[in-house]
Amino acid sequence: MPGWQDTSSKLSATALVREGDVFLFDCGEGTQLQLMRSSVKRSRIHSIFIGHLHGDHLYGIAGLLSTLHLDGRETPLNVFGPEGLQVFLNAAFRTSYLQFGFKLTLKELPRGFRGRVLDEEDFYVEALPLDHSIFCLGWRFQEKDKPGVFNLERAEELGIPRGPLYGRLQHGENITLSDGRIITPDMVLGGPRPGKSVVYCLDTQFSERSIRLADKCTTLIHETTFGPDAIDMARERKHSTMEDAARVAKEAGAQTLIATHFSTLYDGRQIAQIGDDAREVFEPITIARDLLEVEI
Ligand SMILES: [Zn+2]
Ligand SMILES: [Zn+2]
Repeated sequence: MPGWQDTSSKLSATALVREGDVFLFDCGEGTQLQLMRSSVKRSRIHSIFIGHLHGDHLYGIAGLLSTLHLDGRETPLNVFGPEGLQVFLNAAFRTSYLQFGFKLTLKELPRGFRGRVLDEEDFYVEALPLDHSIFCLGWRFQEKDKPGVFNLERAEELGIPRGPLYGRLQHGENITLSDGRIITPDMVLGGPRPGKSVVYCLDTQFSERSIRLADKCTTLIHETTFGPDAIDMARERKHSTMEDAARVAKEAGAQTLIATHFSTLYDGRQIAQIGDDAREVFEPITIARDLLEVEI
């Protein structure tokens, strides 16, 4: 599955690309400019997820939606976010006399919301409140498990005639052969192939909820605003240190951690050092930078 792109390590936006469809998590100021510099096609944006209403995660959405309208977009678009998002967007669109030529479905999620917001045939997206200074949702993009691989050799050994019977077994049905033998799917199918998952936790302080949301995920994207020198500031502002994020990744059993959303207190060299320290808690950690692309 997906590649993702951190379009800004401070003004947040992360694009998850799966089979050509783009899922955009947060939309900080400048997101549409960064999209133009990236390989991500804005015409393929399927849904936008806004985790919370702080400006560094939100202020780019009105401009991006306006550009999609000017592009002549006709494909419907979903936007998910906390209550209050509608008021913000309506003010922007009314003030600028914007009427969309495509269907924009805005789903506001009430304070405390948890559950699936999208549930499609082969993936779903669920939200869970994190622990930040305002209501903030974390997201889990989860591919559903795929059926096991059909073992052609085994099917031939069992004398199953080629054709529609193969398809029925692949769809989980038992079949009866002409000699009366019953063949069950597990006789010719490998075990289910687990789907991949990406979990997005911005902004939050260290929280058991992040651990729950990130349970055994393929990739955890977690905010790491501060280093070990600013633990008090992290607690006070309900942000995380990189070590907090590493603990979440470790306790959740995540396969990899992508660290992003760094305070402007730090330069690149300092962030690299903070990353090295956090690797004593969890590995591997990828330090995000603008326009970084990662294959998942
Ligand atoms: Zn933020
Ligand atoms: Zn915030």
